[in-house]
Amino acid sequence: MDYPTRFDVIVIGGGHAGTEAALASARMGCQTLLLTHNIETLGQMSCNPAIGGIGKSHLVKEIDALGGAMALATDKGGIQFRVLNSRKGPAVRATRAQADRILYKAAIRTILENQENLTIFQQAADDLIMDGDKAAGVVTSSGIRFHSATVVLTAGTFLGGVIHIGLETQSGGRAGDPPSITLANRLREMPFRVGRLKTGTPPRIDAKSVDFSKMEAQPGDSPTPVMSFMGSLDDHPEQICCYITHTNERTHDIIRSGLDRSPMYTGVIEGVGPRYCPSIEDKIHRFSDKDSHQVFIEPEGLTTHELYPNGISTSLPFDIQLELVRSIRGMENAHIMRPGYAIEYDFFNPQDLKHTLETKFVPNLYFAGQINGTTGYEEAGAQGLLAGLNAGLRAQGKDAWYPRRDEAYIGVMVDDLITHGTSEPYRMFTSRAEYRLILREDNADLRLTEKGRELGLVDDLRWAAFSAKKEQIEQETSRLSGTWIQPKTEQAAAVEAKTGQPMTREYNLLDLLKRPELEYDDLASLKGEPVDNPQVADQVQIQVKYAGYISRQQDDIEKLRRHEDTELPTDLDYDSIEGMSKEIRQKLSESRPETLAAASRISGVTPAAVSLLLIHLKKRA
Ligand code: FAD
Repeated sequence: MDYPTRFDVIVIGGGHAGTEAALASARMGCQTLLLTHNIETLGQMSCNPAIGGIGKSHLVKEIDALGGAMALATDKGGIQFRVLNSRKGPAVRATRAQADRILYKAAIRTILENQENLTIFQQAADDLIMDGDKAAGVVTSSGIRFHSATVVLTAGTFLGGVIHIGLETQSGGRAGDPPSITLANRLREMPFRVGRLKTGTPPRIDAKSVDFSKMEAQPGDSPTPVMSFMGSLDDHPEQICCYITHTNERTHDIIRSGLDRSPMYTGVIEGVGPRYCPSIEDKIHRFSDKDSHQVFIEPEGLTTHELYPNGISTSLPFDIQLELVRSIRGMENAHIMRPGYAIEYDFFNPQDLKHTLETKFVPNLYFAGQINGTTGYEEAGAQGLLAGLNAGLRAQGKDAWYPRRDEAYIGVMVDDLITHGTSEPYRMFTSRAEYRLILREDNADLRLTEKGRELGLVDDLRWAAFSAKKEQIEQETSRLSGTWIQPKTEQAAAVEAKTGQPMTREYNLLDLLKRPELEYDDLASLKGEPVDNPQVADQVQIQVKYAGYISRQQDDIEKLRRHEDTELPTDLDYDSIEGMSKEIRQKLSESRPETLAAASRISGVTPAAVSLLLIHLKKRA
C-alpha cells in the first residue's frame, strides 16, 4: 500500500489533548499521525463552549507560551471575553472566553491542517502494536497497521462510554459519537488500574424561545482581553452578551420529584462526578438550604440560536428536564433543542504514569487528557502538549522534560495526579499551586517560552515577538528607574495629588510605582514616553509592585529545591520520629516518598512535619 504507515509519533484522538499532542510533536519535527474517529469533530467542545477561567486560563496561557493552539483558537472563536477576579491580585486573575463552537473548531482544524509533519487520518484505533513490552504502533478498526516509536492515547470520555438520560442508557463517547469499546477492552487486559468517572451536560435551549428581558445581561469586559500572547483584538469575531437567571423553589421541587428516576440517585451511575461542576440534582441535594442557584445563559455561537444554560447540567428524565427548564425565569416557554445527559467512562489511575505522562507498565505509551482522571478542555490540552512533547523527545532519542511545580501549573497538575491519583474528576484551581505569585497567567510566556524554543516547540514568529517583549520590559524598567522626579515641580504636584502626601525629596519612577496608590498609567507619562504595549506595561507594574512577595516565594522555592535533593531512605522507620502525629507517620509509611520534597507534597504532611523529618535525618546521619 502506497500510504505512509511509519511515523515517529502516533496520537489517538482529536479532542483537546490529542490536537495539542499532535501539534507539539509535529512542531518538534517528528513525523506525526493524528488518528481520530471523525475529522469533523477535531477540537470539538463536548460540553460548555468556553475556554479559561480561574486556574484554567493559567493552563491555556502556558500551552500558548509553549507554542500550542488553544489560546490562538480562542482568540479566533471568542465571542465574549472577561477577566475574572480583576479586582484581586495578579496571581488569581483569570481570562475567560465564551467561544463560538463552530469558529473554535474551524480555527483548530486550520492550525492542524497547516502544521508541517502532521498527517491526519479518520479511523478508530482498536489495538496497539507491541514490540515485546513496548508500544510500537496502532491497529485501526479496518485493520491498517501504523508503526511508530511512541504512541499517545487521548481517548477522552470515549473508552467504554455509557450515556444516561433518566433510566435510559446507551453506549456512546458523547452525544452523537460512538464509544471506543474494542480499545477499552484491550487496555483493560493490560496491568493499568482502571476506574469509572462520570460527567454531565445541560439541555440546550433555543434562544428564540427565551425572554432575555427577564434576565440580567452580562456583557464582556472593556477593553476586551485577548487570550494568546500572540493574539490581537483583530482576531476576535463580533462580541455578544451572556445573561444570568436563577433557579427557584419550584425548580427545586420539580427536581426532587424526579429523583426516583435519576440514574445518579437510583445507583445506576457508579462513576464519581466532578465536585466543582455538579449536576443541578446534585446541587439541590448537597446544598438543600439554598433556595436558588445561578444559571448563566451562554450563546453557543454567532450563527446558531442554541444556548448553553451553564449551571443546570442534568441526567434527569427528559420530562423533568423540560419542566425544570420552564420553571426558570425567562425560560417559561423554552424549547429544548438537545436533552442534557450524563456519561460514564473509563479512566486510568494516573499514579501509573511518570511525570512525562508515559505509562509505567508500557514503555513508549503516553496517556493524556480526560482518561487520566481530569475534567476540562484546558487540563486535557495541557497534558496533551506535555505527552506529545515527551513522545517526540523519546522518538528523537532526546532527554525527557517536564515542568516542576514552581515553573508551571502544568507541573502542578501532573505532580498532583501522579502523586495522589484521583477519585473524582480533577480540575485546576489557583489554590492547588503553592507558588501562585510566580505562576501567574500574565507571565506564562516569561516562564516557559525560552524552554519551549529550546525544545523546538516555539516557531520563529512567536520567538521574535517574545524576545522583543522581553527586551521592552527590561528597557522600560530601566527607563523608570533612571527617571527622577524632583520636589516642587509640576510632576511632583501630580504625584502628591494622587498620594495625598508631600514629596520632600527626589524619587525615581520605579520607586514611586511601588506605592499602592500609584499605577503605571499615573506615572509613565510624567516624564518621557511610556510603552505602547499594554502587556509590557502590565508586566513592569506587577514585577515592581509585588517584588517583595515574589522574592520571598523564590527563596521558598530554593529551599524546596534543596529538599528535592534530600533522599529519604527506603527503610526509614517513620514510627520512630519524635513529635510527629500518628496520622502523618502512617501516611508517610504508606507512600514511602523518595525525597523530602515529595514527602512535603503528600496531603496532610505539614511544614512542621517536614522539619521533624529533616531533624530526624540529620540525627540518623
Ligand atoms: P475528548 O475531547 O473527549 O476527545 C477524545 C477524542 O478521541 C475524540 O475526538 C474521539 O473521537 C477520539 N477517540 C476516542 N477513542 C478513539 C479511538 N479508539 N480511535 C480514534 N479516536 C478516538 N468538562 C468540564 O470541564 N466541565 C464540564 O462540565 C464537562 N462536562 C462534560 C459533559 C459531557 C457530556 C462530556 C462528554 C464532557 C464534559 N466535559 C466537561 C469534559 C470535556 O469535554 C473534556 O474534559 C475534554 O473534552 C477532554 O478532552 P480530551 O481530549 O481528553 O477528550
